[in-house]
Amino acid sequence: MDTIPSLSMQRAAPRLSVGQILAPSSVAVVGASESRAKFGGRIMYHLVKHGFAGELVPINRGRSEVLGRTSYGSLAEVPTPPQVAILAVPGETLVQNVAMAAGAGVGCCVIISTGFAEAGEDGARMQQELVDISRRSGMRIVGPNCMGMIVPHHRMPLCSSVVLDTDRLPTGRIGLISQSGALMVSVFDRASTDGIGFRNCVSLGNQADLEICDFLEFMAGDPETHAICLYVEGLKDGPRFRAAVMACRRAGKPVLMVKTGRTEAGVKSARSHTASLAGSFEVFEAVCREAGVVLAQDPDDMVRAANILVRHRQPRRHGGVGVFSTSGGGAGIASDRVTETGLEMATLSPATRKKLGEILLPPQADNPIDLGGRKAPESVDITQTALNILLEDDAVAYGLVVLTSMPFFAEKTRLIGEVAKGSAKPCFLAITPGAAGDRPRAELQALDQPYFDRFEDALRALDLVARYDRLQEAPSGAPVRPSGLPAQATLPSGTATESEVKAALAAYGIATARESLAVTPGEAAAAATAMGFPVVLKAVSRDIAHKSDVGAVAVGLRDAAAVEAAVAAMRETIAIRAPGAVVDSFSVQEMIRGEAEVIVGARRDPLFGPIVLVGFGGTTVEILKDFAIAPAPVTRDRARQMVESLRLAPLLHGVRGKPALDVGAIVEAVVQIGWLAHDLSARLVELEVNPLLVRFAGQGVVAVDGRATLVG
Ligand code: ADP
Ligand code: MG
Repeated sequence: MDTIPSLSMQRAAPRLSVGQILAPSSVAVVGASESRAKFGGRIMYHLVKHGFAGELVPINRGRSEVLGRTSYGSLAEVPTPPQVAILAVPGETLVQNVAMAAGAGVGCCVIISTGFAEAGEDGARMQQELVDISRRSGMRIVGPNCMGMIVPHHRMPLCSSVVLDTDRLPTGRIGLISQSGALMVSVFDRASTDGIGFRNCVSLGNQADLEICDFLEFMAGDPETHAICLYVEGLKDGPRFRAAVMACRRAGKPVLMVKTGRTEAGVKSARSHTASLAGSFEVFEAVCREAGVVLAQDPDDMVRAANILVRHRQPRRHGGVGVFSTSGGGAGIASDRVTETGLEMATLSPATRKKLGEILLPPQADNPIDLGGRKAPESVDITQTALNILLEDDAVAYGLVVLTSMPFFAEKTRLIGEVAKGSAKPCFLAITPGAAGDRPRAELQALDQPYFDRFEDALRALDLVARYDRLQEAPSGAPVRPSGLPAQATLPSGTATESEVKAALAAYGIATARESLAVTPGEAAAAATAMGFPVVLKAVSRDIAHKSDVGAVAVGLRDAAAVEAAVAAMRETIAIRAPGAVVDSFSVQEMIRGEAEVIVGARRDPLFGPIVLVGFGGTTVEILKDFAIAPAPVTRDRARQMVESLRLAPLLHGVRGKPALDVGAIVEAVVQIGWLAHDLSARLVELEVNPLLVRFAGQGVVAVDGRATLVG
């Protein structure tokens, strides 16, 4: 059946903006019913029950009315085309129904049916038909294989899930975009139970037309959305995503994300270290780090952290944690766990400790505070005073309050809740007892102060908020092309030799080891004599990826005889260890003395484009796995941060009485190779300098090896 030509016969679909799709003036439910056993029945019930703010139009061939609303036999019969239609129809008739919707002038179809691209080739073909209809008509599509949207402020639970079978539809400032529909509704329900509302929740399924970035861009610009939570399996457009999250960073709008589906495609075939170290998930992490996006492991933690962030929008500063507990045990566990999580216990100022000392016994008058160790008489309530003193200390950026069972539990909890609510600093309250904590919890609910049922829940949310704050402190400037770089990079296609790569590096301002190429042992000896001893000898072959693995590198050759002997030995060893490898010539190089060996590399990520890598290198690179990556090009600030983030970075700053090494020159090389990667753009597969020898401060770095693979 050819459904497409019917499009032109009827009303043209208006192109709706994402904002209109999220708050449509009218919604049609195709396949509307009064039976809750059916998708179309549940969607109708939910929309009616929660009082949808727009016009609700049931479509059902057999009825003139559904749940008190006038029903039509088809979308074409509705006098004014509904802006949005949700299709609850059998899979076989779905494409036909979508075509009819487009013909009837519907602006957007929400498709919850499954069996499309996620189900194999036939499904993918059907999905393509949906995309074609959308492209031709201008009608947008959400899904297929999604669970619709929940828009509390528009009273629009456009979703069949049982979680909407409640009286709650809390509004809030958090936007939720989820590729998984089931996850969206579960997260929505958990959040509602915790008293957390959303501005918009959307599930996108296969993203046939509208995709994550369409909604992300909308939410980035929506003044009513103050934080965005994402559940992502795969992105359709890396650069677009990067631009959208960078826009959120500039707008000061927190983005938190749970990411799954870590694909290794494009990395498997890589031969260099650079490519195999930086798998695609690492690249994703690097893009997120740059944009200040926090990656969470658990979606509920993500939403709880977002809830704290939207309540404390005042500029926050990253800093230490102030622990406050009603028990010594709570204080002790919290202090250990804060440190183990990689957070810092705030060091209180002497003034703060003095103030605390007036009401608490000496051991308790510090961070962590154990309220049990009081000095003040029982008749004076010190709860609020102590917590306020702690939160007012400049070193404290976050409060972590562990409430155990105690006399006057509910009353004390309310006092603490009041301080937490009034504080500009986020305070994470954990009420650890079970049923005994119910009244205290009710007190906090009445105050509208968030709390956590378990200490670890509070700690994870605190960690996410703190990580968000720390990421915002990282440099965010756009890279500026340094002067003196060539207009374009010249490197041959295929596998480039060390000499070719070093020539490209030199053009980008990176010092390289001097070398001469020789074919015979005599030529090599003469070249070495001219260069001055000691020298390094290497076989030049496009067939050898890692020369030292096959005996193709000899260092520290002290005279002509040693060079001649090395050439002969190298030929023999290569013939055994790399049979078939064609040795074009031998490279005689000056022997550079380096104090450390680092790797600087680049590769093109299939989703995000060029990335640059720096790490501790040489032949131990795989064992150390100590590297940092970022989308290229990078600013000098970012490059420095990458270098300083390495575990072994302290080695660069001088250890055991040794002078410091030239970190500035490493940073410069990272910037230069970032631009080289950028300039090679789509031709770049991978490039690496391993090692870049690092000398003492002021003496620079020297590239003594290089390999690259290019296409086109
Ligand atoms: P591979 O292909 O095995 O990576 P390299 O060219 O990196 O071969 O050489 C192996 C090692 O030899 C390097 O990690 C470095 O320690 C040393 N080396 C190579 N070239 C030089 C040089 N010109 N000066 C000093 N050391 C060198
Ligand atoms: Mg090497």
